[in-house]
Amino acid sequence: MYETILVPTDGSAGAEAALGEAVSLAGTFDATVHSLYVADTSAAQPETGYVDIVESFERIGEETTAEAVEDAERAGVEAVGAVRVGLPHRTILDYAEEVDADLIVMGTHGRTGLERYLLGSVTEKVVRTADAPVLTVRLSDEDEGGDEAGEENEDEATDDSAGTAAGTEEN
Ligand code: ATP
Ligand code: MN
Repeated sequence: MYETILVPTDGSAGAEAALGEAVSLAGTFDATVHSLYVADTSAAQPETGYVDIVESFERIGEETTAEAVEDAERAGVEAVGAVRVGLPHRTILDYAEEVDADLIVMGTHGRTGLERYLLGSVTEKVVRTADAPVLTVRLSDEDEGGDEAGEENEDEATDDSAGTAAGTEEN
């Protein structure tokens, strides 16, 4: 069903959670995972040493995508890393077309945003405009490893949500 799964990454924990999801789907469907980092030109203004900043983004991108490829391969999944320069959402859409991605998996949030927004701006634009389906992954509160105490969900020990899905297909 899926052959080519694109996972855009900005090196954030949110993108890492997306990678985990993508790798397990890829394992199931025998798909190839593409880890794409976009060196964000909008975050580098001409006055602030544009070339240096973009180059340092590219280095970060090489490391980030190499790690993603390693993670995927360790799980027995074929993977490709790519670093591009440009506007993140535009570049993600172009790359998705280029490799003919049939699924895009990305974090609801990334490195730069505020948790109170429903979706990060890059993800929002990709969700709205991509031809391929987009799976968004929210980092669980535990994985966030945050020091923000609060929001305790651990009391919900009863899991009675299973067991209703099987057996009764009437149409
Ligand atoms: P915002 O950027 O809107 O301030 P944010 O950083 O929380 O907020 P996004 O940038 O939309 O949210 O990040 C959400 C997801 O988008 C990330 O988990 C990652 O999958 C993807 N993403 C964001 N930036 C990039 C990038 N430069 N290259 C590749 N993927 C990216
Ligand atoms: Mn961001």
